Amino acid sequence: MAGTQLRHIAKWRGEIPIESLYTAGIGGQRFFKALKEKGKLVGTRCRRCHQVFVPSRQFCERCFVELTEEVRAQPDGVIKSFSYAYIDHNGGRLKHPVASALVQLEGATTVMLHRLLEVKDLSRVSIGSRVKAVIKPKGKRIGSILDIEGFRLVE
Ligand SMILES: [Zn+2]
Repeated sequence: MAGTQLRHIAKWRGEIPIESLYTAGIGGQRFFKALKEKGKLVGTRCRRCHQVFVPSRQFCERCFVELTEEVRAQPDGVIKSFSYAYIDHNGGRLKHPVASALVQLEGATTVMLHRLLEVKDLSRVSIGSRVKAVIKPKGKRIGSILDIEGFRLVE
């Protein structure tokens, strides 16, 4: 309605029981296996467009070419974009904002989304900030993206 302002947004609390099973696929499994067993970050390079996907994939999303060349990315990278969350998923205010970033690892042309760790001063984070992946010790890795605890700013 013209002229009407929405001053109050109603919300309803509810629950939806959902259970899912996500498979990483052949390309993704390559990444998680290397991460779990060796603590390495692997990707795949497209021989046609030279895109380097990290995490690894089976097919190039641009060329639809099968990706067979495995490459190793470094745990060092650069922030390409970032965001802060000030509220949790229930709408409650967080004591400390949670920072997430799209990070391009050295050796990759794609970005991966993950948490930024120990960011107390948000003004220190910017596009172009250098970061390093923090990988859990071998005994604690399970073959999950959370085997990477997150990225830590490099001074
Ligand atoms: Zn390609």
